[in-house]
Parts: sequence; C-alpha cells; structure tokens
Amino acid sequence: MFKEKYEIWFLTGAQTLYGDEALRQVDAHSQVVVDRFNACGRVPCKTVYCGTVKSTEEIVQKFREANESEKCVGVVLWMHTFSPAKMWIRGLKLLNKPILHLHTQFYPEIPWSEIDMDFMNLNQSAHGDREFGHIMTRLNKPRKVVVGHWDDPEVQDRVAAWSRVCVAWNESNSLRIIRFGDQMNDVAVTDGDKVDAENVFGYRVEYCPVGELASAVTKVAASEVDALVAEYEKEYDFAENCRQPGFERDQVKEAARIEIALRSVLDKWNAKAFTTNFDDLYGLNQLPGLASQRLMAEGYGFGAEGDWKTAALVRTMKVAAQGLPGGTSFLEDYVYHFKGKGAILQAHMLEVCPTIASGKPRMEVHPLGIGGKADPARLVFTANEGPGLAATIIDLGNRFRMIVSEVDCIKPEAPLPKLPVASAFWTPRPDLKTGAAAWIWAGGTHHTSFSSALTREHLEDFAEIAQIEAVFIDANTTIDQFRRELRYNDLYYSR
Ligand code: MN
Repeated sequence: MFKEKYEIWFLTGAQTLYGDEALRQVDAHSQVVVDRFNACGRVPCKTVYCGTVKSTEEIVQKFREANESEKCVGVVLWMHTFSPAKMWIRGLKLLNKPILHLHTQFYPEIPWSEIDMDFMNLNQSAHGDREFGHIMTRLNKPRKVVVGHWDDPEVQDRVAAWSRVCVAWNESNSLRIIRFGDQMNDVAVTDGDKVDAENVFGYRVEYCPVGELASAVTKVAASEVDALVAEYEKEYDFAENCRQPGFERDQVKEAARIEIALRSVLDKWNAKAFTTNFDDLYGLNQLPGLASQRLMAEGYGFGAEGDWKTAALVRTMKVAAQGLPGGTSFLEDYVYHFKGKGAILQAHMLEVCPTIASGKPRMEVHPLGIGGKADPARLVFTANEGPGLAATIIDLGNRFRMIVSEVDCIKPEAPLPKLPVASAFWTPRPDLKTGAAAWIWAGGTHHTSFSSALTREHLEDFAEIAQIEAVFIDANTTIDQFRRELRYNDLYYSR
C-alpha cells in the first residue's frame, strides 16, 4: 500500500567485542528479518535494512540520515547482541522519527543439544535489548515495544500497525486544515488552541472565507456537473425524484457543483481536511453535505461546525487505515436507546462517510429543518454491523487528551423512514451506561472519528508518538477505575 512512498528503517545494535565473524552473522540475520518483513505481506511500508551499528558515531550518522529522509517515517531498533547503551545516547537525543523497539531473537527456540558459548554470545537480545530498554526509559523516549519472534504473524501485525501510524503521523505533520467559517455558536469542545495543536500534532489550521467557496461554485462548468452526476448515478441508487427532471434533480446538480468547487478550493490550498459551519453558508445554495460525504470517502478529513480537531483526526485515521477493510467517518452522538445494554443512534445533519455503509447508498433530497438553506442532497445508508471504535481529541487547556470508546455497531431495530440521513447504531463497551458515563467523565465531544478499519493499537501508537494522554473505554472499564485513571493522569500531566 505505502511501499513506494514510505520506508521504515531497520537498525541493528551490536559491538565489536565478538569479532568480525559474529558481526557478519548479525548482519546476515538482520537481513533475513528485514527480507521477511518485506515478503510477509503484512507490513505496508518498505522495510530498509540500514546495517549494524557499533559506535556512537555510526548511530549519530544513521539517525541524522533518518531525520533527513523524506521516505523514512519510523525506525525499528533491535539489539541482536549486547550493545552498550551509552553509545546510543547522543543519537537518540537527536532522532526525531518514531521508534519501535523490536525485542526479538533470530532463533525461535533454544537448540538444547547444540547450544554452546558461541551461540550464547551471538544470540543475546534477551539481555542486549534490556540494556537498550534501560536507556530508552532513562531518556524518556517515546516508543513502541514489540516482543516475540520476528516471523510470528502477531509480531508482524504489531509492526504493521505501528508503521501505518508512522505514515499517519508523517501526514499529520504536513497536514493543512481549512475552515470555512468559524466555530458554530459558542461550542467549547470543538474548539481549542490551534497554536498548541500545531506544536503537538504538526498540522496547520487555517481560515478560508466561505465566499471563496461560493465564488468557486459560480465558476463550475455545466458539463463538469453533468459528468459528476452521471458518476453519482453509477455509484449510488437514486430516489425517483432525483432521477427525473425537477427540483430534486436540480438540487443534486447544485450539490455536484459545490463538490467540484470544494475540491478545487481544497486543492488550491493544498488542504486534506476541512470544516464547515451550517450557520455560515453565505452564497451557497445548500449545506455541502453530499460534498463532505464524497470527499471523506476520498480520504479527506472532515469536521462539522468548525470542529478542526475532529477533521484532523478523521484525516489522520483515514491515512492510517488506507487499504484496510472497513471504513472511517465523522460521526455524532444523537439519540439514546435505553433498552437492554443500550445503544446510541449516530448520525449528523448529513455528513457521514459512505465507506462505513452497508449496501449501496441512496441519493435523496429533503429539507433540513435548520440552517435556512435550500433542501440539500445527501447519501442515505446505515452503517455496517460489527466492532469499531469512536475516538476524539479534546483540549483540556494544559494538554490534549485522546478518548477512545470501543463500540459494537448493531442493526437498528426498525427502519427510520422519517430520518433520511446516513446513520450508525452502536453500543459502547461494556454497555451504554458505563461507556457513556466514562466518556462524560473524560470530557469527550459529541463529535467523533469512528473507524471499523483501525484497532485500539493504532490509536495507542498514535498517542505514544504524539506524546498525548490517551484513555480507553472498553469491555473491562468500570467507572471507579476509570475515574481513578483520570485523576492519576491529571497528576501525571501537571508535572
Ligand atoms: Mn455536530
């Protein structure tokens, strides 16, 4: 998936004590591991073996190259033999790429009848990697630690998850988010410190007057609109009144015109995420609901009502999820169903990404009720059933906190004939009462970035790389324990 564009660099630590022959074997073993990572079909980035390092100078040199490389998104480190960790200090202090400490060993088993001192001297990651772990902890370096044999699919999957997140982190650090309009009303949770966000996540949040979008809409050629509507007709089911000439058909065309204009403005700004504000649509005929749905499906990040943090998170999660089964979407908690374990109806005014749809989305046009604009086109569908996670990042004033809720999407009990919008229906783990209470205690948003493609591990890795607080609400959550965790975290982060 990312193989042409992104690399993870693999460095092996050793020392000269064991002689040239041992070092040749370390080198050969490392090459085998790297070749396997490239051939196993699980790790999405190209793994590049950068050699065995034996001195401070070599390490500094390699890490300088890693910092400079545009392709290198992360560094995998393995101490095959003992590698005295003082020689890593200088290099680690300057390395600015994410680190994975691979605690592996070339041979999966102890060769009971064969093992001798030479074998022990060569295969000693069990203590070499501990020495390395010590200096990483002492230097307080963020990293992922993966333990196990390198040919174990579980180990490869953990490296794979991390490498996806490294690509997403790289994206976050070059991301530009455009806001059409400001925060809606006085909403607190969707706002935050943009300067601090750029410092922590690397992305830039900028403002684009909605007038620029409105003016781009007027410049779209009728032929472009017709071509795009034809594409819609191929991809989606159409309500009868959207197929026939008339008001609804015209509204679909207008939505297509807005989509083309929005894409062109985003391209001009080189932005991969955006926000809208349905109270500030000066010059637009309708809320860009369909455009937001389609651009999300293409990989853009989106946040409604000026929610730039969620727009960034949706984009980041979409990059990490590229090529995986399942989808990722902006969503909002709407209405509760207090029955059994309880469930939440997830929707938005319109802006839900069709990558999470079960079946073919249906093009429809209906009034919106608020916003004072003409009836917008939208894709209507229900989300696939199955596990997923809802994530948010909030600004607590002194830090960012990521909150992740593991959820199970279930089938709605009945159709929603009077609510013609895309929706999902899920039960947070362990149940609605606990899941929602924990979310409320953590201060979570009503907006989330939902994904059925990513797992908790991806978001753990992201939080570790970004060095932000992360709390997880899952099947084992109890409110007592969760509140204690929040209190301990407050202490930890007030250092
Ligand atoms: Mn909203």
